Amino acid sequence: MKCRTKCPKSINKVLLKYFLLLAVLLTVLVEVVCFIFVKNSMDAQARDRLTHTGSEISAFIKTANEKEISDYLRGYANDGINVYIVAPDGEVLLPFGVTEGEWNEKIDGIINRLNAVGGGGSVLYVENSNLNYATAVDYGGGSFMVASYSLKIIRSATKVLLGYFIIAGAVVLLVAVLVSYTISQKLSDGIKNLSTTAVRFSKGDFNVNFANAEYRELADLSDTLNSVRDEVKKSGDFQRELLANVSHDLKTPLTMIKAYASMIREISGDNPEKREKHLQVIIDEADRLTGLVNDVLSVSKVNSGLDAINAKVFNLTEFLYGIINKFDYLQETQGYKFMVDIDANLYTRADEEKIGQVIYNLMGNAVNYTGGDKTVFISLKKSLTDERIKLTIKDTGKGISKDELPEIWNRYYRVKENHSRPVKGTGLGLNIVKIILENHSFDFGVESESGKGSSFWVDFPSVPEKIEA
Ligand code: ADP
Repeated sequence: MKCRTKCPKSINKVLLKYFLLLAVLLTVLVEVVCFIFVKNSMDAQARDRLTHTGSEISAFIKTANEKEISDYLRGYANDGINVYIVAPDGEVLLPFGVTEGEWNEKIDGIINRLNAVGGGGSVLYVENSNLNYATAVDYGGGSFMVASYSLKIIRSATKVLLGYFIIAGAVVLLVAVLVSYTISQKLSDGIKNLSTTAVRFSKGDFNVNFANAEYRELADLSDTLNSVRDEVKKSGDFQRELLANVSHDLKTPLTMIKAYASMIREISGDNPEKREKHLQVIIDEADRLTGLVNDVLSVSKVNSGLDAINAKVFNLTEFLYGIINKFDYLQETQGYKFMVDIDANLYTRADEEKIGQVIYNLMGNAVNYTGGDKTVFISLKKSLTDERIKLTIKDTGKGISKDELPEIWNRYYRVKENHSRPVKGTGLGLNIVKIILENHSFDFGVESESGKGSSFWVDFPSVPEKIEA
């Protein structure tokens, strides 16, 4: 990735860095604690052992003869503990053959230490890398026993241990590097894949599939991106479809308007009767264009949610009569019959203007698709419980086949058949009806069978007249 300003850090490197830092810290901490613990317990063990051995020997000396004591002490020497019995003047009484020189200097120190503790006790002290245990013993002439253990053994053992710790630490770090590299690689690979797919998607490839099932968060993100893709695709398809359909529908009236306008100029301008007829065609086609543009605007408004519901209580009975009256011209000029069965003074709470769109679209469809008897049945009835009002608009036309029933509510769906169409339709009408009623949370539907006409219904809530001012 090329960055113009400050480049953000790669998740891979950040993960690796912090994982390693953590591994180093943990390893060092664990090893230092272990090392201190082992070293201290080895030291403590040596002290215990020497104290224990020292008191054992001083007890033995009390009871045994010179030869036995000498043999006994030799046994300890094999165990790494050298035992000396020294007279107060520095003469080494046991074992035999030890030079007295160094003991002349040491013995004063021992006597001073023992005097400091007093009462015939014992002392434990470190001198020249040796751990010493000293006490007065019953070996004639106020002599002392010194048991000495070389700490060099412990030092070299801890050195070996330290070596092992360093090797183990190195192995742990190596494993940590491998594990953190693999994990960070896997995680960033998943993100990289999503990002590569997103780039393809942004370039207009709607067949991409965001897939990552390895980590839940990334799987969730993939699902979200897949639904975004579907939505974008749907909206793109809708726009393309709408553009194609609308431009097709615009063409016919525009061609007609142009043709009839030319006709008026060239042929019928002076003939009032013909001119009137041609002008009527132009007006009708202009109305059709207006209807089409209004439908397109409505569908995009209700879809974008910009058109909020403005509900209030109104007289549905009066309102319905008002719409039916608009269709009067069809009764008068084309022999349509509207059979009504409408209860008086029914009130509902809804967005009056939008419900007007709904009823107008349903009436328009009934007129367009009704049978040869040109009859449309309109009923508005209160339910037995007084809580609901049902509007039914029924025609006697060819009806809608079972396969097509669920489709008719979709945008721009038209059953592929020719109908006589006194009211202009765009294929958007039922989609607008559906969105408006869904936004109101009103139930609605259609019952229809091929050859037996269709009956569209809407279920309104019934409210008392004066629920709102
Ligand atoms: P249009 O402008 O084509 O009427 P609509 O969205 O209102 O568009 O209706 C969609 C399709 O549903 C129509 O093209 C028609 O095929 C079918 N349709 C709607 N109302 C009826 C009806 N009362 N009888 C038969 N078919 C209908």
